[in-house]
Amino acid sequence: MDLEVMNGLLRPKSIAVIGASNTEGKIGYSVVRSLIEGGYEGPVYPVNPKSDEIQGFKAYKSVLDVPGEIDAAAIVVPAKFVPQVTRECGEKGVKGLIVIASGFSEIGRADLETQTVEIAHEYGMRVLGPNIVGILSNSDKCNASFAPFLPLPGKAALVSQSGALFIAMDASTYIRRVGFDKMISIGNMSDVNFGDTVSWLDQDESTGCISLYIEGLKDGRRFMENALTASKPIIALKSGTSAHGAAAAASHTGSLAGSGKVYDAAFEQAGVVRASDLNNLFDRTLAMSLQPPMQGDSLLIVTNGGGVGVLATDSAERYGIPLRFAPEDVQTELRKYMPEFGSARNPVDLTGMAGRDWYQVSVQYSFAHDWVDGLVVLYCETAMTDPQDIAEGIKAAVDGSGVTDKPIAVSFVGGERSEAAMRWLVENGIPAYNEPDTAVNAIAALREYARNQNAAQSFVRYQDVDEAAARAVITKVRSEGDRAMTEIESKAIFEAYRLPVAHTRLATTEDEAVAKAVAANGPVVLKIVSPDILHKSDAGGVKVNVEGEEAVRKYFREILANAKAYKPDADIHGIAVQEMAPWGTEVILGSVNDATFGPTVMFGLGGIFVEILKDVTFRVAPVSPEQSLKMLSDINGAPILEGARGETPKDRKALAEVLSRYSQMIDDLGDEILETDANPVIVYDEGDGVCIVDARIILKAE
Ligand code: ADP
Ligand code: MG
Repeated sequence: MDLEVMNGLLRPKSIAVIGASNTEGKIGYSVVRSLIEGGYEGPVYPVNPKSDEIQGFKAYKSVLDVPGEIDAAAIVVPAKFVPQVTRECGEKGVKGLIVIASGFSEIGRADLETQTVEIAHEYGMRVLGPNIVGILSNSDKCNASFAPFLPLPGKAALVSQSGALFIAMDASTYIRRVGFDKMISIGNMSDVNFGDTVSWLDQDESTGCISLYIEGLKDGRRFMENALTASKPIIALKSGTSAHGAAAAASHTGSLAGSGKVYDAAFEQAGVVRASDLNNLFDRTLAMSLQPPMQGDSLLIVTNGGGVGVLATDSAERYGIPLRFAPEDVQTELRKYMPEFGSARNPVDLTGMAGRDWYQVSVQYSFAHDWVDGLVVLYCETAMTDPQDIAEGIKAAVDGSGVTDKPIAVSFVGGERSEAAMRWLVENGIPAYNEPDTAVNAIAALREYARNQNAAQSFVRYQDVDEAAARAVITKVRSEGDRAMTEIESKAIFEAYRLPVAHTRLATTEDEAVAKAVAANGPVVLKIVSPDILHKSDAGGVKVNVEGEEAVRKYFREILANAKAYKPDADIHGIAVQEMAPWGTEVILGSVNDATFGPTVMFGLGGIFVEILKDVTFRVAPVSPEQSLKMLSDINGAPILEGARGETPKDRKALAEVLSRYSQMIDDLGDEILETDANPVIVYDEGDGVCIVDARIILKAE
C-alpha cells in the first residue's frame, strides 16, 4: 500500500470536485455543499466548464487549470466522461479519485471501470468506487460526499459497500449514539477494496475499530491476509448468502458449502468478528470502539434485579460464554455489599436496595479481581435510586480499579432517566445498552475477537509431498478428456500427499481380480472404476467383504453388469480390488474451490448420512494441525471422536494431520482442483490412525 497516495485519497488536504454544480438537487451541488457544511478547511476546487464560480468558490474549466496541488478529486460527471477526466487528474498529479459517478459495472459497463482504473494506475492514482456516496472524516472535518452531514464523532470507522445504507447509517449514528471518525463508501470496488481500507484504517491514528458492511468480497484471500495482520478489531456484517457452488455440485462437499459457511470460516480465520444485523453491527461496534478484548471466559454479572440477571445468564450461554460461580473470596467480599437475601455467586445480585455505593465498591472490587475477565453491570431503575448516580458510581469504580485490559458493558432498564444516564456512560467510554442481552452480546464480541486472534496460526508446509507426481496424474486424466477422476486416480494424488488410503489396485479382467485379491491376503472390496459413475454404490458398483476366488469372480461379473445397466454408455476402466479396512468411526473430508476464498477444506461426521446431518465445518486452506484439531471440536458430533459414552477416544491427532495435509493438497493444486471428497475416512482408536477408503476429485473446467 502506498501510504501517501492512500492518505491523499482518504484524508485529502485539498479537494477538486469535478462536475461541481450550482443547481440544487444535483449531486455535484451536494458534494460542494457537504464540504462547506462539514467545515472542511483545505482548499476546494470546483471544476465545471460552464461556470466561473460555484457556491462561493472560484471554479475552473478543467482540473488542469487549478493552480494548487490536489490530493483527491471527487468525480461526479457522467460515467462516459470519467476515463477522460481520470487522465486529466493524472496529468495534474492528483493522488486519489473519489468516483461518486455511477453507470459502470452495476449496469453492465465494467469496461468503463477497467479503463478508468488502468488510466489511474498509469499515473499512480488509486480509485475509490465508482458508484459511491463518498468519504467522511470527522478528524479532517471532511465530508466529500453527497451524504448531508458527518457522523456522530467517535473512534470507530465504517466501510460500506452499499450507498443507500451508507447515508442511512450515517444519520443513524446520532440516534444510536455510536460514534465514528471515518466512513468510507466503496461501491463497486474497482480498485480500492475492503482489504485496502482495512490496512489503511489499521494505521490511521483516529480509528479504534473497523466496521464493515459487506455484500461480497472480491479478493477473499487478500482480505483475509490484511484482516489478519491488522492490530485493530474488525467487525463485519455480511449480507446475501447465495448458494453459488451448491447448485450443480458433483461432490458431497460442494452441496454442503453454501457461501455463507465459507464466509463464516474465513472471517473466523482472519480474526474478524461477525454481526448478525444492523443493530448488532452498531451495538458491537460501540463496545469494540470503547473496550479492550476479553482474554478469558470468566464473565461476571453484577445486577440489582434477579430478572435481568437471569436474562443475562441465558444470553451468556447463548453467546458462548456460560457463567461460572465466582470463587469463594469474591463471594465473601461481595456479600458485604448486599442484604441477606442477595446473591454473590454469579450473577451477583445486589438487590433492589443497592444504591451508588454498593454498585461502586462491588464493581471496583470485582473488576480488579484476577478471576474476572470481563464484567456486565445491569441496573433496573427503581424509585429509590437515581440512574445517573449509579452510572457515576460505575464510572468511578472502573477508574478506581485502574483496570484497562478487561472489558465492561452496562445495561440499564428503565425510562428517560436511565436513557440519559446511559448516554453519559457512553460519552465516558463505557458501552451501555437498554437490553441486558445486548450488553452480554457486546461483551461476547470482545471475547470472540480475543479468541479469533489467539487462534490465528501460521501454516508450515509439508515438505515430504510430491506435487509433481500429483500434477502428472492430473495431466493424464485431462489428456483422456475427463474432469471426474476415478477413485484410483484420486487416490494416486492423495498418496502423493502421503494421505493414508486403503491399498487399491485396478483389475481389467476376472483373472487379474482374482490374482490381486489373493495378493491382498484377506477379504477385499470390489468397486466399479469409471469416470462416468461418481456414486459407485448407487450403481450397485461396490461389494464389501468379498472372500475366495469364487466370490471374486461372481461379484466381478455382477458389478460390471450393474454398472452397464445403470449407465449403458459408461466408460469403464475396470474393477478396483481393495483391502477391506477394519470397522471404525466414519468421517468425511472434502473441499471446494470457493469463488471468493479459493480452496476451502471441509470436515464432518461422515458416511452416507452426511448430507442429512450436515454436521460439517469449513476452513479456507491450508490449515495447520492445530487448526485442524479445532475443526474436529467444532462439529456437534465432536464427543463421538473424543470418546463419548465409555468409548475409547479416537485418533484425533492422526486425523488432524491428515486434514492438514489434505488442505495443503487442495491448496497446492488449487489451480486444477474444483472439488474433492474423501468419504468415508475411517478413524480408529487413539494411536491406530485413520484410513481413507474412498476418494473423489473433480477437476476445474479447462
Ligand atoms: P461410493 O461412495 O462411491 O458409493 P465407497 O467407496 O464410499 O463408494 O463405498 C461405499 C461404502 O462401502 C463405504 O461407505 C464404506 O462403508 C464401504 N467401503 C468402501 N471401501 C471400503 C474398504 N476398503 N473397507 C471397508 N469398507 C469399505
Ligand atoms: Mg464414498
